[in-house]
Amino acid sequence: MTMAGSVTAAGIDVEKIREDFPVLKQTIHGKPLVYFDSAATAQKPFAVIDAIRKFHEVDCANIHRGVHELSQRSTAAYEETRSKARRFLNARNNSEIIFVRGTTEGINLVVSSWGRRNVREGDEIIISAMEHHSNIVPWQMLCEERSAKLRVIPMNDRGELILEEYEKLLNPRTRMVAFGHVSNALGTINPARQIIQMAHRAGALTLVDGAQAAPHMNIDVQALDSDFYTFSGHKVFGPTGIGVLHGKMRLLNAMPPYQGGGDMIRTVTFEKTTYNDLPYKFEAGTPNIAGGIGLGAALDYMTGIGLDKIAAYEHELLLYGTEALSKIPGLRLIGTAREKAAVLSFVIDGIHPHDIGTVLDRQGIAVRTGHHCAQPVMDWFHVPATTRASLAFYNTAAEIDALVAGLHKVKEVFG
Ligand code: PMP
Repeated sequence: MTMAGSVTAAGIDVEKIREDFPVLKQTIHGKPLVYFDSAATAQKPFAVIDAIRKFHEVDCANIHRGVHELSQRSTAAYEETRSKARRFLNARNNSEIIFVRGTTEGINLVVSSWGRRNVREGDEIIISAMEHHSNIVPWQMLCEERSAKLRVIPMNDRGELILEEYEKLLNPRTRMVAFGHVSNALGTINPARQIIQMAHRAGALTLVDGAQAAPHMNIDVQALDSDFYTFSGHKVFGPTGIGVLHGKMRLLNAMPPYQGGGDMIRTVTFEKTTYNDLPYKFEAGTPNIAGGIGLGAALDYMTGIGLDKIAAYEHELLLYGTEALSKIPGLRLIGTAREKAAVLSFVIDGIHPHDIGTVLDRQGIAVRTGHHCAQPVMDWFHVPATTRASLAFYNTAAEIDALVAGLHKVKEVFG
């Protein structure tokens, strides 16, 4: 990697960025922490920690209901995140931004609300072979309930979707194509725009699981023309328990509420309830206010660095890591797509991933081992599990060197 001081070719000052993440300053088993598990959850900068703390210390009140000062402040701060999320996704309108618990809830909302209303016996839903369980199981449940058919876009040996096969799956019964923008298990960046265009030509809608794309690249839901797009706050350096579902206004307006309760109503009598306007129609009950405010700070933090710079820097790291890992005898990378984001998933001949993870942990290196909530991906590659190092903009080439050294240690112990 080309470095000038701590500033990389991509224009990111990693050492300065690392100062913003208190978690990264610790040692684990006497070694500096190397955090390579950001795809599971990303670490939080002071900006996020401070925003949540400030809310609890200074502004804490329930939102949307109070005329008093604290409630006004809390509401303004929470709603400001909606504007930030709209800008982050380049959505048209704040009414299209629905707060949810995370990607999983975003998908479940669409399945329950849109799916139950629109999917009938004999209809078809298309997902892909590399989906996270969150984008498989809800659709499977809907298909079972409605006697609809779940169809799967296959992938090749690199972990790339085969678009010619996808084309063959599309037909007039296809109601929805739901797919991950970036695979958490393989790192593949799917050609979202093309997948969406093909779905639309067939008259189907699209849902994009953006859980692993949002932390790494610029997202533009208008350019993508996605019908639904969802991501989790905790993977974009924000808190857990908050996320965003974007939907096109026309579709959201036609959908029934997801849950009933406070805030989603306009009027309630025992005879009949009328529902609130978007986005509140989909936001029943007191939301995760602190989480929403923390998410706003996280989105500001990322856009402050610049998503294009983040993508460029992580690409450098990924290339460096790919080359370094490829030199380790017996190591096989799982997921070698030509378009790939910050994930290095691999197996080593004769050594179980859990053993790899345990030895690396003793070196202070946090990786994830297992099926990564994508069991069909593991089955496809005929492996029970992989070891996954997932990168973020706070990681460095030196940390990749530490991973390589750690893997040599693993081979000494188990080789
Ligand atoms: N989809 C993908 C691709 C993911 O990586 C994850 C999280 N691992 C999810 C969905 C689910 O996200 P959450 O658990 O935040 O709802």
